[in-house]
Amino acid sequence: PEVAALVASRVLDVPDFPKPGIVFKDLMPLFADGTVFRQVIDGIVAHHGTGSFDVVAGVEARGFVVAAAIAYATGKGVVPVRKAGKLPRKTYSASYALEYGEATLEVHEDAFVAGERVLVVDDVLATGGTAGAALDLVERAGGTVSGFTVLMELGFLDGRKRLAPRTVHALLTV
Ligand code: IMP
Repeated sequence: PEVAALVASRVLDVPDFPKPGIVFKDLMPLFADGTVFRQVIDGIVAHHGTGSFDVVAGVEARGFVVAAAIAYATGKGVVPVRKAGKLPRKTYSASYALEYGEATLEVHEDAFVAGERVLVVDDVLATGGTAGAALDLVERAGGTVSGFTVLMELGFLDGRKRLAPRTVHALLTV
C-alpha cells in the first residue's frame, strides 16, 4: 500500500497518447525522482527476495531501467528482451497482436543457462500481449520464470487474466 501510493503519486495521465481516446500512463516522473525510484526498486526486491532469482530480464525500453536497477541492487545481471531487429546474434522471437497490427520481441538464444531463474520486469501491464511474449521467450531460451513484476497494472484491460496461470506482481493496480 505504501509503495502503491508512491507510484500513484508519480504517474501522469496523458490523454489521447499515442492515439485519440487512449489515456497514457507516463511514469517518467517516477524514474526521475531518486527517492521514489529507490523505494520502488527496494519494494520489488523485498517482494521477491534476493534469493528467488538469478538474473533479471527487462522488456524494452522502460523495463530496461527497472531491470538494471534491480540487478545492480542485488548483484545480478540483466538480460534484455528487445524489439525485433535489435539483437546482433541468433534470437528466438515471439509476435503478438496489437490493436492494429503486430509487434515482435526477441531474446538471444543463449541468453540463459538452462534452469536459470529469471525475474521479468516491465513498467506497465496493459492487455498482457507484451508480457505474454516476453515470458514465453524467457522460457524458450531456457530460463525459468521466477516472477513477473510491473510498476503499474491497468486492471480494466484484463492482462492478468490473459497471463493466467502465470502470476503478476503489480506495485499499483488502477
Ligand atoms: P500490453 O502489451 O498491452 O500489455 O502493453 C504493455 C506494454 O506497452 C509495456 O511494454 C508498456 O511499456 C507499454 N504500455 C502500454 N500502455 C502503457 C501506458 O499507459 N503507459 C506506459 N506504457 C504503456
